[in-house]
Amino acid sequence: MPKSQQMTNFLNAYTSSAFGRIPTDGECVVCGKAVDYEKDFTDVLSRREYVISHMCQECQDSAFGVQPPMMDEEIENDMQ
Ligand SMILES: [Zn+2]
Repeated sequence: MPKSQQMTNFLNAYTSSAFGRIPTDGECVVCGKAVDYEKDFTDVLSRREYVISHMCQECQDSAFGVQPPMMDEEIENDMQ
């Protein structure tokens, strides 16, 4: 079995147990949203990440720690 096929099988098994779906072209594996490969990504890295993980820009942002603007206020409120 070619290594890339093993990797695909592994990813399919992982995503179907984690998200209930397997990676499909044009779709986010996490939220199921339709993805426009040409338009939906902010940079080349995010586009490359989609090829690997099939996560849309929003899900990549939340998975890789881009904080929404509210976060600082929430932290400050917690500290008061
Ligand atoms: Zn998504």
